[in-house]
Amino acid sequence: MTQDDLESRIKSLRRFSVATFTGVSIIGVGPLLFFVICGFLKKSPVDKETELYIILAGVFLFFPLWGILAYWAQYRYQVLCPHCGQSLVSQYPVIISTRTCRYCHEHVIDPTA
Ligand SMILES: [Zn+2]
Repeated sequence: MTQDDLESRIKSLRRFSVATFTGVSIIGVGPLLFFVICGFLKKSPVDKETELYIILAGVFLFFPLWGILAYWAQYRYQVLCPHCGQSLVSQYPVIISTRTCRYCHEHVIDPTA
């Protein structure tokens, strides 16, 4: 893997993370905002108890959904160390300066490239 490869993969991962965070936030906060607006207009399509369950479902879906998508994205964009499988995103500045993984000290960026 070259340094440019790693940089482009990490940029793609960050773009994907922003998009998924936005999408998952809409799922998490959307029902709450919808029923707040319905409360102001005093017109709700469902009763108060159902509103509460729908709001709680959105809130409780937020973190697991975002976590699963973030975990999956690291495999999708191949930003894991090929030797030990640790994430390369959080140790990116160290990798650029040393060209090795912080955990297993193997070369991640090809030294001949
Ligand atoms: Zn490693």
